[in-house]
Formats: sequence, structure tokens, C-alpha cells
Amino acid sequence: MDGEIHLEELCKKFDDFVAVDGIDLYMPPGEFFTLLGPSGCGKTTTLRMVAGFERPTSGRILLDGSDVARVPPHQRNVNTVFQSYALFPHLDVAKNVAFGLKYHKLSKDERAKRVGEALELVDMTEFARRKADQLSGGQQQRVALARALVLRPRVLLLDEPLGALDAQLRKNLQVELKALQAELGITFVFVTHDQAEALTMSDRIAVMNGGRVEQAASPKAIYEEPDTVFVADFLGVSNLLGAKAMGPDGGACAVQVGDRTLRAQQGATEARGEVKVMIRPERIVVEPHANEGEQRMPGMVERSVYLGGAYEVHIRVLGGELLKAMVPNDGGAFATALEPGAAVSLHLPSDALRVLIQTEPEEPDEDAVSMAAAEAAQPPR
Ligand code: ATP
Repeated sequence: MDGEIHLEELCKKFDDFVAVDGIDLYMPPGEFFTLLGPSGCGKTTTLRMVAGFERPTSGRILLDGSDVARVPPHQRNVNTVFQSYALFPHLDVAKNVAFGLKYHKLSKDERAKRVGEALELVDMTEFARRKADQLSGGQQQRVALARALVLRPRVLLLDEPLGALDAQLRKNLQVELKALQAELGITFVFVTHDQAEALTMSDRIAVMNGGRVEQAASPKAIYEEPDTVFVADFLGVSNLLGAKAMGPDGGACAVQVGDRTLRAQQGATEARGEVKVMIRPERIVVEPHANEGEQRMPGMVERSVYLGGAYEVHIRVLGGELLKAMVPNDGGAFATALEPGAAVSLHLPSDALRVLIQTEPEEPDEDAVSMAAAEAAQPPR
């Protein structure tokens, strides 16, 4: 099927600096695939290699089964839309879109037909004769999209295309872009550092960190079943508690958090030793202080932030860690009584607790470092 991308052991070095560190990704045809990650993680470099603007140091890029590493960009049947629209300001909208066809030998009629169709797709037909510099940012980005789509590429690469737009327009265009992709059925590879954008638009997300892919999965799996501490932390608000895993306990993992032993059913339930236990704020149930028992921890409210439909309540638990919990604003007295200083009980259901093995390098323990230094300074015995 058309528009299938395989990246195999793809690597890009700039001198000694490894920007993309041997990534393997499969992007199925017709999917909205997002590369998500913090600034500098290698998203754009990956996209530019697929586009043909950057040559891989090693690895393969297969487009519908053929290695395109040596194929020039305009022969790849992929097209790119950038954050900066790069329209010709003095040309009208139709001429800007027709520019995309300049390498294609088409009759005048065919050219006009293709331009008309592309403008209709992005809902800009009525602006065909308007000069590009007389358009709003959102309209300019639509024209840039039409200019890419007029070529009918199998794959459309989009590098932060909504980055320059204000929040409301950005939201509207997110919905439009997703609908357009679904209608056209072509593969979209979308780069963003905005996690909410990635969650709402994508069929699949690859979360990148330091030139590597931490996890590639559906938005739901990335949010609800993160594989790593980095992914858990990067997407949405997560509570990550330091804990000691004591191994499997009937389909779950027994974890010690402070002086409590909890059962965690998700993630690395076979783990032993130092781990992180994650729970999303909307899965914590805040209960009256008197509720004690299994899967519960006492705590004290430090802050309650009013969010309209809910309160985000910050609670300090025994052992000193701060957890965030979402409490629905259901009109009841309990939510409004959660003022600083209020004592509560937190219910952490076992099916919402996820064990994550810490993969990032730990900060050196200062005591251990100074002890090692003192030992090294001892004269040999
Ligand atoms: P952003 O969201 O800020 O655009 P990104 O994830 O897209 O970030 P890249 O643009 O792919 O990141 O850059 C990855 C790393 O490679 C960065 O540290 C960047 O400084 C470096 N880099 C990118 N292009 C070059 C280049 N031409 N020469 C040297 N280093 C580069």
C-alpha cells in the first residue's frame, strides 16, 4: 500500500554530535504519525532525512519498500510543510499553490483543476486571487498546505506547522488538519513538542529523547501505559513516587512507598529494588481522613487550584512527596473543603499504579561521592 515508511537503524551525526541515534520506526500507510519530544531531541533531523534534505550517516529509509537514501527530495513523492509558510508574498494564492507544480509537465487546464481542488480541500477557494501577504497566519498556513497537497504526495511531512499560530486558531486547525488527513488517507508525519497537540491528532506517537525513540504507540497507550519514566513525565501530569519493589504478588507487584505497602498492577510488575511508581492525577481518589485501609495513604492538602470543572489538589503525603489529584467539581461540600491544611486520605487503586524502572542516570549521591573521595584519600593499608 502507498505511503508506508520504515526507518531502520537510522542515524545522523553532525561532526561528533549524535542527533539521531539509530532509530527504528514503522509508519503504516494512511496514518497520522507524530514525532513528539523536547527541543533538540532529533525530531526535525529525522523528518529532514525522510524528506531528503539531510543525508543519514547510517541506516535506511524505506518508502513503500524502496530505499530512498540516494533519491533527491523532489523525486521522493513526499512533501513538506514547515512552520514558516514561505509563501511568495507578491503572488496571489492560486499562483502560490501552482508553484508546487512547477516541475510537473501539465496542461494549463489540468494545472488549474489541480490548484482548484487543492484550494477547495483547505477551504480557501474564495481567496484564490488574494495576495499572500494579505492573509492571516492561519490562512497562509492553509495555502502552504494546499501547495504541498497539489502534488498529491503519498506522504506529507509537517514540521511544527501550527507553531506560529495563536492558541485558538491552533486548536481549530488541529481539528481541520486531522479531518483532512482522514479524508485524503495519505500518511502524515507530524513533528511537534506540544503533547496535547500530539494526543488529540495522532493515530500513533513516537516519543523521542536524546536522539532515541523512548516509545512508539497509540496516544492512549502512550498516556496510560508509558514504558519509561521520561514518557510518563513528558505527557500530561504524572505523579512519580520513589518506591521499593518487592517482586510479584499475585498478578501485581508489592511496592513499598514510605511506610506503606501498596499493590501495583501495571508496568514492570516483576521488578525488584528501586523503582518509580506512577499514577495519573485523575486516578487518585481523595477521601475523608478517616478512610484508612488497603491502598490508602494519609496526606495533607497544600494547595487547591480551581480549574472550573475540577480542582487540582496538591497533597503532601507521609514521606514528604507531593501528589496532584483531580477532584471533580460536582457541587458537593467535600471538594470545596479541601483547603490548605486539611487532612485527607488518598486512595491509590492498584489498577492505576504503574511500576517503572528508572532508566535515566541517577544524580550522584553526594554522601556516597564524598565517602568515596575520603576513602580514596586514605593512605594504602
Ligand atoms: P526543536 O523542537 O527545537 O526543533 P528537534 O527535536 O527538532 O528540536 P533537531 O532540530 O532535530 O531537534 O536537532 C537535534 C540536535 O541536532 C540539536 O541538538 C541540534 O542542535 C543539532 N543539530 C541540528 N541540525 C544541526 C546541524 N546542521 N549542525 C549541527 N547540529 C545540528
